[in-house]
Amino acid sequence: AKVMDYFEQRCQGSKRMAEQARQVIPGGVQHNLAFNLPFPLAIAEANGAHMTDVDGNRYIDFLQAGGPTLLGSNHPAVRSKVLELLEHCGPTTGLLHEYEVKLAELVCELMPGVDMLRMAGSGTEAVMGAIRLARAYTGRRRVIKIGGGYHGWSDSMVYGMRLPKTGRMEAVGIPRGATANTQESLPNDLEAIRRRLRWNRLRGGTAAVIVEPFGPESGTRPVTHDFNAQLRKLCDEFGALLIFDEVVTGFRAGLGGAQAYFGVKPDLTVLGKCLTGGYPMAGAIGGRRDIMMMLVGGIGTTAKRAFVGGTLTANPLSCAAGYYALKEIQRTDAAVKAGQAGDRLRRGLDQIIERLGLPYVAYNMGSIVHLQTSGVMLLDTSSLLKLARLKNEAKQRKHMMEEMGAAYTAHGIITLAGSRIYTSLADTDEIVDEALNRFED
Ligand code: PLP
Repeated sequence: AKVMDYFEQRCQGSKRMAEQARQVIPGGVQHNLAFNLPFPLAIAEANGAHMTDVDGNRYIDFLQAGGPTLLGSNHPAVRSKVLELLEHCGPTTGLLHEYEVKLAELVCELMPGVDMLRMAGSGTEAVMGAIRLARAYTGRRRVIKIGGGYHGWSDSMVYGMRLPKTGRMEAVGIPRGATANTQESLPNDLEAIRRRLRWNRLRGGTAAVIVEPFGPESGTRPVTHDFNAQLRKLCDEFGALLIFDEVVTGFRAGLGGAQAYFGVKPDLTVLGKCLTGGYPMAGAIGGRRDIMMMLVGGIGTTAKRAFVGGTLTANPLSCAAGYYALKEIQRTDAAVKAGQAGDRLRRGLDQIIERLGLPYVAYNMGSIVHLQTSGVMLLDTSSLLKLARLKNEAKQRKHMMEEMGAAYTAHGIITLAGSRIYTSLADTDEIVDEALNRFED
């Protein structure tokens, strides 16, 4: 009741806008990050580590737009360069621009597994392109993903393979045929992946294994340290391409992404989010030169070329924003500093949980911090019994997380769905400590 009072008393402007939105926008919500209880906040300003809503309430911003703004929101060094570019050529021309080349050169320099880069409209589109490319290159159709992993909202990468039967939102409108060539394995279960690869070998083979290298859902279910290296070996043994979906980890886990962190070189890398520093059209496919060359198109192109498109793809605005954001991340060591803020926050959360005897668990990989109010760290999902119990708990947990998210908001902290936190370069020790006081309240 205290939390709901906050929204009634302090957020009337947001409430009015949410009601207005409901008239013209289905559910009043355009974005999957904005399903907030009791209604989404309408934001007027975002700067660094803070956001201010239309009612003038100021929040510590641990959402950071779902991950892309590693430098903090609306970073002035990037903004000024974008404004300069807009003065010269506006946001898009459809022809080549120097920032396309500059961004590609920089990403190729930073990411061990990227020899060449092709921009895409979003992480979702980049995943679609990478899978198409893997199929074109190998001449095979089956793709293995890790259960619970999120690779965007395309039909064939739908959240969970059994979802079409459940009628859950993520599954509606997706025919079973769309997922016929996608297979799912549990995280950390290398033997199960090997069995699938072996089974597939007798039936035309596996085109690719796609993973989030920190584990499904941005590491909500973390993988063991050598999981990726073992997977690399398995893929080589069976001739399948290894695709790292680094939409979240790219540049955030360090300038070289999770692939540099683990020392494992994927064949293809999917990028998004930080790639354009929070500016639109954040997506790219990167990878081995011989594979990437399958994307060569245009006049005179013959067979065996994979098509990817997009009217606004690789527009100068996105590329310039990405180039200057990555340069600034490099100059300021933002990934390391945001990671230290994440470590400090997680340590503080651990202390609060311990002191108050709460059945919660906090864990982090640098600037990606998870706070599970169910107390279950989703590390070992290998037993089916355990999985069934987790599924039973999932509904209750989701509701509780939404309520916790609302409670954090009422205490001046915005999180991702009440369970995930992205720290940024803007998170000083003072801000983190202030946040910890609010979490404790
Ligand atoms: N892959 C991963 C690991 C993601 O976390 C996301 C989005 O959160 C995507 C792909 C999809 O990217 P986008 O939202 O840009 O389509």
